[in-house]
Amino acid sequence: MPRPTTLSVDLDALLSNAATTRSLAGNRKILASVKANAYGHGLSRCSKALSQNVDGFAVAFCEEAVVLRQQGISLPLLLLEGPFDRDDVDAINEHDLMVAIHDHHQIDLLEKASYRFTSPVWIKIDTGMHRLGFSPAEASTVDQRLRQLGAHSTILMTHYAEAEHPSSALTLEQQRVWQASTSSMPPTRSAANSAAIMNALATATDWVRPGIMLYGAAHTDPLKGLPLEPVMSLTSEVMALRKILAGDTVGYGGRWRAPRDSLIATIPVGYGDGYPRGAEDGTPVWLQSQRFPLAGRVSMDMITVDVTDFQACQIGTPVELWGKHLSVNEVAKHAGTIGYELLTRLTGRVPVIYHP
Ligand SMILES: *Cc1c(COP(=O)(O)O)cnc(C)c1O
Repeated sequence: MPRPTTLSVDLDALLSNAATTRSLAGNRKILASVKANAYGHGLSRCSKALSQNVDGFAVAFCEEAVVLRQQGISLPLLLLEGPFDRDDVDAINEHDLMVAIHDHHQIDLLEKASYRFTSPVWIKIDTGMHRLGFSPAEASTVDQRLRQLGAHSTILMTHYAEAEHPSSALTLEQQRVWQASTSSMPPTRSAANSAAIMNALATATDWVRPGIMLYGAAHTDPLKGLPLEPVMSLTSEVMALRKILAGDTVGYGGRWRAPRDSLIATIPVGYGDGYPRGAEDGTPVWLQSQRFPLAGRVSMDMITVDVTDFQACQIGTPVELWGKHLSVNEVAKHAGTIGYELLTRLTGRVPVIYHP
């Protein structure tokens, strides 16, 4: 018998979130971000489910896109980081992928490797994130160069560094630079990730690029009143229970010390599964129908929870680490990280079950 720890993926919730995204996106096209194994939810299954409801998919690099083509997905696919080498360009030609170009060396590569230019080319503009992209001043030269090489259409894209703060100085400056540098350029544009969509920063663009909101999480909790449902639930069951005395410690290093005689539940999930080792004492864990505090360091295969106030707890009591009752962001906050990281770093030993 496998241990009871499982990752459940609710495909109905995924579709419902896509519908919510569609209603916010209005008549803009949706390029669903499914990079990093669909944020840990399973690239093939999630993309197949979404393919009736979105207009294309964004992935980080070539291998992720090839998986989608092999699954029979024929929608437009964008490589957010563009080609890395000649082999990539061959695969891009073979599988008819769209590329985001962020640097001149990539245009050289397209030229040398005889890129076919059958799809629009996305030009990444660095409006202030300073991670990837051409400077705004170069944008029109790059556009001209691509057209000379055979591109029949181009799409300008940028990325906000903190779209979760729509009126911050950085966001306002990025908007100003974006508008100033693209006003005389070809008309097709894309700027908005989930936070930008939720904060209405997607105006005057043609494609939106939602990721995290499709999976029912966000940069923020609560989700701005939007009916977004968590798609992933990481669940388990209590495997052991013990009574300890006031003053006893629990787990590696004896980090947690019982302030009173206590009941400790042990759950078979740990950092070897992707539960964050950085989780502090007090991190919420959902047992049966309410939150209880993590007590003691996370081990590779187990965690320990203070269930003194839940004397009816038993071996087999259901546990949710995050999911419908406990948001992944809340857990992440107690571990000094963000929901995105917890979703994407579950390890292969956790069995994944898809519903329906
Ligand atoms: C990952 C990514 C997105 C999606 O971001 P979310 O915050 O998950 O919505 C959009 N655009 C680019 C360029 C990205 O790298």
